Amino acid sequence: MIKEEINLISDTITRPTKEMLSYMMQAEVGDDVFGADPTVIQLQKKVSAMFGMEAALFFPSGTMANQTAIKIHTQPAEQIICDKWSHVYNYESGGASFHSGVSCKLIDGHRGMFKAEQLAGVINDPQLYYLPISSLAVVENTTNKGGGACWDYSELEKIKAICSDKGLAYHLDGARLFNALVAKNETPKQYGKLFDSISICLSKGLGAPIGSLLLSSEENIQKAIRIRKLFGGGMRQVGYLAAAGIYALDHHVERLKTDHDRAKRIGIALEKSDWVLKVEPIETNIIIFNLHKHLDEGVFLKNLEKEHIKLISMGEGKLRIVTHLDFTDAMLEKVIDVLDKMPI
Ligand SMILES: *Cc1c(COP(=O)(O)O)cnc(C)c1O
Repeated sequence: MIKEEINLISDTITRPTKEMLSYMMQAEVGDDVFGADPTVIQLQKKVSAMFGMEAALFFPSGTMANQTAIKIHTQPAEQIICDKWSHVYNYESGGASFHSGVSCKLIDGHRGMFKAEQLAGVINDPQLYYLPISSLAVVENTTNKGGGACWDYSELEKIKAICSDKGLAYHLDGARLFNALVAKNETPKQYGKLFDSISICLSKGLGAPIGSLLLSSEENIQKAIRIRKLFGGGMRQVGYLAAAGIYALDHHVERLKTDHDRAKRIGIALEKSDWVLKVEPIETNIIIFNLHKHLDEGVFLKNLEKEHIKLISMGEGKLRIVTHLDFTDAMLEKVIDVLDKMPI
């Protein structure tokens, strides 16, 4: 059986494939701060066309893309509305309050997703001058802390109708949107027509070493260029990295289904294990599960580590496995075998 390390901590741990690296190496580059990197321009045009949105901008991280969107859609002292598990609230170092001076109204959703009625119930009446103005709703698809769960498109449409009616902007944190598109057989254009802005990550399941994009109207992207520079994210000959994104979009989208199928196989092995109390429903490449309360998580993780299998604890007794581009069928068979044979 294989001896190499099997890292299931995240889909961000992948390294560029040989083919991706050689594609990166032949990129034509220029100084992107002057808007003169042809490969960056090519990537931005490719992605905006894919989503049917006016413009796109390349960012070093998904966090910077999300934070730029919040900055565009809000004024200080206003309020954004998002799920209590959302990345923008939990995992962006409090950036919404620091960069944009806004507070976050949290919705108590299910697996990182909420209902349109829940949103309608928390939007502040702008006539009441002592309440913060609700100016932006943020949703995340797939949901990260929610275990790769996908929204129902019809719910996203209902939320859009409420945002339009109440004058809120609507942002999608689509760090893993391509996983949702593949799992639900949806298209980028369906999302492009719904949202005022969308962020996507190239460095998660798509397997690029770095990079995210923000998509929006031409006017918003003009603002985003200034904000990205203000955040220190203006980059020079970054076309080498944009090339990785172009390669990823051309070669690594459809294969996400393989990651999802492998995640489901691991889920079946976990369900059978005497260690495991509960596995959350698996829709994409993220598996969240709980061990029986009387069992020691440390021992479980150590047993896996002895077999060079790494995963992480999410706290509150939850463990997480994420499948990805560098996780092979041979590794899958080994993980299933180790789970099958692990004694209590
Ligand atoms: C990874 C991720 C981001 C962006 O993360 P970066 O590490 O800054 O690129 C944003 N939202 C979600 C849901 C994510 O999983």
